[in-house]
Amino acid sequence: KAKQIGKGQCVFYSESIQKEFENKLHLHTEITQAIERFEFELFYQPIFEISSKSINHAEALIRWRHNERGILSPYAFIPFAEESDLIEKIDYYVIEKSLNDLKTLQDHNINMSISANLTSKTFLSDNFLENFKKIFYKKNINPNHYRFEITESIALSNVERTKKYIEELGKIGIYFNMDDFGTGYSSLSYLNRFNFKNIKIDSSFVLNYEKDYKLATLVSSIINMLNSLNFDITAEGIENEFLFFAFNHLNCHFLQGYFLSKPIPLKNFISFIKNFKLDNTLLDFLRKSTK
Ligand code: C2E
Ligand code: MG
Ligand code: MG
Ligand code: MG
Repeated sequence: KAKQIGKGQCVFYSESIQKEFENKLHLHTEITQAIERFEFELFYQPIFEISSKSINHAEALIRWRHNERGILSPYAFIPFAEESDLIEKIDYYVIEKSLNDLKTLQDHNINMSISANLTSKTFLSDNFLENFKKIFYKKNINPNHYRFEITESIALSNVERTKKYIEELGKIGIYFNMDDFGTGYSSLSYLNRFNFKNIKIDSSFVLNYEKDYKLATLVSSIINMLNSLNFDITAEGIENEFLFFAFNHLNCHFLQGYFLSKPIPLKNFISFIKNFKLDNTLLDFLRKSTK
């Protein structure tokens, strides 16, 4: 193929590889510096509990406050970091920071739990349990207030270890949410093998719920199935009032999405929680439709 394209094209091709290599090297240096300079920050997104009609949980979501490019989404650096040793540094930073933030919430008399996302490299490493416990016990935090979120693909990439780690941490009171349910291998037979506390239905199912009749049927069957297995269920991507009502009606237990709030910095999150009050019409509706 190279011969066909001709010499000039070949040079162009290798130049672009060179460029990509340089870009990656640059990003690697930048991320390393960003860790040292504390440019990573956790934003918090509230999660609404239907039974209590209140917010007592939030998800920590990483952002990079880049001094030139502004606030960067995790999609701009997490996939890259996952290819290198950087992801473990980021994950441990997130653990440390989220635990500290949880303490800050408690200092403000905000009694809620938070969950942090973990990548497979970190979670499935030999010494994860040991490392985590070492950090956790120093913080003097009620374990019931802290959760991890891992994806079903992580769980299936090393079934035995995942099972073991979830069980071990479960013994000390730290539970796991299965993230992005429905997007991975979705081997339903595995669902029951892990002790997940909460199954988070991926936003792709929620966002298209309104537009796609077949998908809507699928989603409601998934929720019924998860309910009969006694899982707690969270719907991600509740962007508007329609979805908020619809998923309340579907016997989902927790709702997360822009309708309530986007992920926001800790400071803003604290005032959001202190001032949170549901609209009366919403409250009325929730009373009517929950048993
Ligand atoms: P995720 O864990 O599934 O997080 C949910 C994502 O959905 C977040 O994107 C959140 O901002 C977004 N979202 C929430 N509500 C809505 C909504 O109503 N509509 C729409 N369209 N989106 C909504 P975000 O913050 O960009 O994070 C993307 C992914 O990056 C996360 O997906 C997670 O896999 C990863 N990630 C985020 N923070 C961390 C972290 O601290 N550590 C690691 N390892 N991964 C992280
Ligand atoms: Mg998550
Ligand atoms: Mg998710
Ligand atoms: Mg997701």
